[in-house]
Order: sequence, then structure tokens, then C-alpha cells
Amino acid sequence: MFRLILYLIILVLVYWVVKRALFPPKGKAKGPEEIGEEMIQDPVCQCYVSKRHSYAVSIRGKKLFFCSEECYRKYMSSKVLPKT
Ligand SMILES: [Zn+2]
Repeated sequence: MFRLILYLIILVLVYWVVKRALFPPKGKAKGPEEIGEEMIQDPVCQCYVSKRHSYAVSIRGKKLFFCSEECYRKYMSSKVLPKT
């Protein structure tokens, strides 16, 4: 019974090590040109933000990206959406 528990612990440790090796934690940046990193412009404040860190909203099937929720709210309050 004790051996079984020991095996389980080893299994978990091995799994953890392999997982860390395959998916290294964030911290060491791969550089600004990371794969999948697409820069988009905020339509409200005109600042550029990476798609991954943006505040994405789809309005009437159109995907919009904002730098923050604040900009999204500004956009929604300033823009009168047409009725369909
Ligand atoms: Zn913004």
C-alpha cells in the first residue's frame, strides 16, 4: 500500500516536470514578435494593444478590440447603434 502511494507521488512529480518542460511559465519573454501576437488599434483612444491583451467584443457580428473595458464603454456610449 505504501509503495502504491509512493508511485503515485512520483507519477505526479513526473507529470509536473513534463508539463513545465512543455509549457514553460511566463516571465522570460520570447521577444516582441511572439507568434500569435497581433497588434490592433483601439478605435477610441487610438493606442495600440496586442490582440491577446485587448478587450475583445463582438458587436453585431463584428469583432472589435479595445485596450480596456473603459474604452469599450466610451465607444458604446458615443456610438448609437443602428436598429435592424
Ligand atoms: Zn483605449
